[in-house]
Amino acid sequence: MQRDGACTSLWQQDVPDYQPKNEFRNELFDVIIVGAGITGITLALLLQKQGKKCAVIEAHKLCYGTTGGTTAHINTIFDNPYSQVIKDFGESGAQQLAKAAGNAVALLEQNVKQYNIDCEFRKLPAYVFSQNDEQSKQLDQIIDGTLKAGIEVSYSNDIPIPVPYEKVMVVRGQAQFNPVKYVFALAKEYESLGGIIIQNCRVENFKDDEIKVLQTTQDELSGKSLVFATHIPIGINLLHFRCAPYRSYALAVKLGNNDYPDGLIYDLYDPYHYYRAQEVNGELFMIAGGEDHKTGHNENTQECFRKLEADVRRHFDVKEVSYKWSSQYYEPADGMAYIGNLPGHSENVYVATGFSGNGMPYSHISALVISDLILRGNSEYKSLFNPNRIKPVAGFTNFIKENADVVGQLISGVFSKEKLHELAQLAPGESKVFSVDGSSAAIHKDENGKLHAVDPACTHAKCTVSWNYAEQSWDCPCHGARYSADGEVITGPASKGLKPINIEEKL
Ligand SMILES: Cc1cc2nc3c(=O)[nH]c(=O)nc-3n(C[C@H](O)[C@H](O)[C@H](O)COP(=O)(O)OP(=O)(O)OC[C@H]3O[C@@H](n4cnc5c(N)ncnc54)[C@H](O)[C@@H]3O)c2cc1C
Repeated sequence: MQRDGACTSLWQQDVPDYQPKNEFRNELFDVIIVGAGITGITLALLLQKQGKKCAVIEAHKLCYGTTGGTTAHINTIFDNPYSQVIKDFGESGAQQLAKAAGNAVALLEQNVKQYNIDCEFRKLPAYVFSQNDEQSKQLDQIIDGTLKAGIEVSYSNDIPIPVPYEKVMVVRGQAQFNPVKYVFALAKEYESLGGIIIQNCRVENFKDDEIKVLQTTQDELSGKSLVFATHIPIGINLLHFRCAPYRSYALAVKLGNNDYPDGLIYDLYDPYHYYRAQEVNGELFMIAGGEDHKTGHNENTQECFRKLEADVRRHFDVKEVSYKWSSQYYEPADGMAYIGNLPGHSENVYVATGFSGNGMPYSHISALVISDLILRGNSEYKSLFNPNRIKPVAGFTNFIKENADVVGQLISGVFSKEKLHELAQLAPGESKVFSVDGSSAAIHKDENGKLHAVDPACTHAKCTVSWNYAEQSWDCPCHGARYSADGEVITGPASKGLKPINIEEKL
């Protein structure tokens, strides 16, 4: 199964790409959903079930995006704790978020049961633990906020991993599963109701008239409503300045002593580490994750895997590291996802983005909110997740910090010829963005010594890309667009590839 990186995730191994069954007839759709990750497919099934004629358009294959690289904890607690949500959105905002998360987890569990999905879904408790005084104070506040939000939590005397701790919070009713098996099964159900999936089709632009007309890399498509379930919307939008892209790293390891943790366990460092077990086709693994950083801000992405592995080896009897992979998420400026009307567009154009590390609940919250907006014209959560909200206080510092990049990274100029000779000295596997006198090139030398040169100006907002050694891609630090060594788009928001530079000619 294809994914947006060079590393193989735990969910990909020996899994063939999804093959859509229904033949595509070009007609006017009720709803076109762009993006076939967990968000797009969950929403498509809900709408198709309610009699809407839907089409899901995917630039690559099902689960190619972050859903294929997630670690699939299903939580009603969020990376941005309820104590912070209360500060920024009030106690009623936190209670609404907790209620939405409860509904989301219930929908996911109901889908698993109703469609009898074999995806190793399991309910189990989550544990958050502190390791010093400062973290213990933080944990007290988190517990207080979570209780005020209406979620049952308590202190625990124990955690199911051999790590030293001061205090522990336990939350029951959390869950885990295999996300790819789940999404593939939902897609099959959606198709059995007549839903259309078009893979290898990138939406490049659209006309926002009464009928939305989409320009794609295949046919032109028309729909009455349009949803961007693309993780980050295409084009240049207010939300690109309110969401910051981050990379996060994961390992799946086999333990020598077979002492796999029975729970979802998180520490309180920033970025935090987490541990959980997962069975895949009868084999047990422990998943560990962390070492997050802003996309394009860490040249040595392999080092992130080394640090993560060192952390895991410090605490566990690691027999083998079976998988290592990284993936991308989007941090919202004020800590709350953006779900609803796409800013700057008519009311029947929708978006779901800014999920942070909580896309399992947020994908299902999005499916519930957007299906309500489409089917009933309203949702009880419309204002909480409103993508057009103005929150001058919440997230303001973040907003400035994250967007310093956007301004600082704008570049111009064309390629300078002399410097290509110097770049030809790159070691195999090495990559560099090279700038001189206002001219720049992003050059990658592959393992066979072949040079791949592209214009480093991201086609989305002209920021300069940087090389991600772990996943072998050019990553944009501003809004997270990612490209192959030859400049093809791996991840949006860009819809056009980096301009290739013909080295032969230039040399
Ligand atoms: C390492 C890591 C671990 C994580 N772990 C967890 C976890 O344990 N629990 C949790 O809740 N969340 C977790 N998350 C977050 C969660 O995985 C994501 O929020 C979620 O998978 C996003 O799903 P999505 O369907 O919205 O987006 P995606 O899965 O990224 O799907 C979007 C799809 O849209 C397609 N697309 C994009 N542009 C276009 C276009 N122009 N035309 C057509 N198609 C397009 C892409 O190809 C892609 O397939 C994690 C994230 C990371 C990075």
